[in-house]
Amino acid sequence: MTDKITKFHIRLRDEWLAYEIREMVRLFVDLKQVEVMIDAETHKNSPVEKPGLVCDSGLANLSHSCWLRLNEEALEVALPPNWQQQATARREAKRKIKIALYHLLQNWKPTTLPWGILTGVRPVKLAHQLTDQLHDRESVINTLQQQYALREDKARLITGIASLQEPILKAVTENSVSLYIGIPLCPSRCSYCSFISQAVSDKNDPLIASYLEALLMELKGALAWLNKRQWHLDTLYIGGGTPSILTASQIRELMETLSKAWPLASLREITFEAGRPDTITEEKLKVLKEYAVNRISINPQTLQPETLKRINRCHTVDEFFDAWQLARDMGFQTINLDLIVGLPGEKEDQLLKTLNAIKPLKPANVTVHALALKRSSTLTTDAAKHQLSDAEAERMMNCIYDFSHEQALVPYYLYRQKEMAGHLENVGFSTEGQVGLYNILMMEEKQTIMGIGAGAVSKLYYPETDRIKRKPNVKNIHVYIERMHQQGFDETGWNKAFSSTYKQQKNEE
Ligand code: SF4
Repeated sequence: MTDKITKFHIRLRDEWLAYEIREMVRLFVDLKQVEVMIDAETHKNSPVEKPGLVCDSGLANLSHSCWLRLNEEALEVALPPNWQQQATARREAKRKIKIALYHLLQNWKPTTLPWGILTGVRPVKLAHQLTDQLHDRESVINTLQQQYALREDKARLITGIASLQEPILKAVTENSVSLYIGIPLCPSRCSYCSFISQAVSDKNDPLIASYLEALLMELKGALAWLNKRQWHLDTLYIGGGTPSILTASQIRELMETLSKAWPLASLREITFEAGRPDTITEEKLKVLKEYAVNRISINPQTLQPETLKRINRCHTVDEFFDAWQLARDMGFQTINLDLIVGLPGEKEDQLLKTLNAIKPLKPANVTVHALALKRSSTLTTDAAKHQLSDAEAERMMNCIYDFSHEQALVPYYLYRQKEMAGHLENVGFSTEGQVGLYNILMMEEKQTIMGIGAGAVSKLYYPETDRIKRKPNVKNIHVYIERMHQQGFDETGWNKAFSSTYKQQKNEE
C-alpha cells in the first residue's frame, strides 16, 4: 500500500522530538522522502498530507499527554509527571512517544526491525543501565522486549555482552585513560569508505612523513600532559586508516616516542591496526613486537577476489593469508580480522566461502560489520543500497553467528550505525580471554579516551555524572598538520575540560 509514496509528511510543534521522530520514521521510509514541518500551533487535528504524521507534543506543552496521529489512526500517550523539568522523566517521555509511534508505523507498514525503537549507536549501554536498575538478566530481557520492542534474540545478545563486559568496566580505575592514535592514510580508498582517510598510493608520498611529524608533536604534548597530571595510561590503540602504511623506521619513531614517555609493557593492551595485508612486512612486525604490541588487526573484509577488486582494496587473497602466517610465525597470538556483510555483489554463498576459508586460521578476534552506506562513500547508488533485502542481510548475519558459535567466538562488543544493511549491527567476537579491551572502553564510555591525530575524537569521562563530552580534532589532514606546527597539543583545552565538572562544562558552552 505504501511502496509508491514520494513524501512522508511530519508535523511537529517544536524541535524537541524532531530528531527522534525522524530517526524512527526513516526505519520505515527512505529519509529522502521525509519532510518535517515545525509549527507551534500543531495540535491533535492539524491537517497534514498523507502519508503523514502529527505529533502535538512540545517542550512548552504543560500537559501530561501527547497525541500522535498517523493518517487516520490517532492515539494519546500518557507522559510521566515532571517530564519537562526532570531529565530522567524527559527520557522516559521520549521512550513512550517512540514506542507508541513504532506501533502506529508497524500498523501502517509492517517492517522487520530486530532492534525495535533503538535508533542509537550503543544498545549495550542500555543493557548496562537496565541491569543496574533491575539486577536480573531475564527482567532486563523482558523490559527490552516490552518497552523497547527489541526482538528476543537481540535482547539476549546485548545482555550477554553487557554481562561479559561488566567486570572489565568495573575494573576501570580513576585517572586512567586510554589513548587512540589515528593515522588516516590508506594505500587506496575502499569504495564503501566514509571515513576521512586519504589515499596515498605512493609509499614515498611526502604527506606520510609530514603527517607523522605533526602527529608526534601532538603526541609528545599529550604524553607530557598525562605525566604531569599523573594519569595512568591503560590501553593504547593505533588505528586508521592504515597505520601500517608507515615504514618500519617510521613505526619505530612513533613507538619510541611512546616508550620514552611511558613503560609500554605496563599497559593492559596495545593494538596496532595493520589493516591492509599488502602493507605488512616482517620488518614492521618485528618493530611492533619489540614495543610490546600484543594485538594486531589484519583485515581482508572478504576473501572473494572479485569483490576485493570491486571495492578497490588493492590486495589479493594470497596476500592476506601470507600476512596472517607471517604474523603467526612471529608470535602474535591475538590477531583480529574484519569482515563486512553485504559488500556489493556478495550474497550468502560468497560469505559462506569466506567463512570456510578463514576457519583453519582459528582467529582470536573477528569483527563483523554490516555494510553501512553513507553519503561520503562512493558506493551510495540505489542499486548498491538495495542489493540485499532485509531478510537476505539477516540470513547472512545468522551465518556469522553460526560460524562464531562453531569457532567458540563470543560477541564482546557491539554498535550500530545508520543505513546499515538489514537494520543490523556490527559485532566484535573473541575467544575466551582475548577481548579487545580498548573496543569495550571506547564503546561503553566509562573511561576517558584521548584521541591523537587528524579526525580523532577524544571522549572526556566525568565519573561524578557518568557522562562524556566529545572533543574532536580537526578532520582535514592538511589543516591538522598546519595547526600542530602552530599550536601543538591543545593543553589549554584539556586543562579547561578537567578543571570543572560535566555540568559546569555544559553551562560554559
Ligand atoms: S582501509 Fe578503512 S579507512 Fe582506509 S579507505 Fe578502506 S575503509 Fe577507509
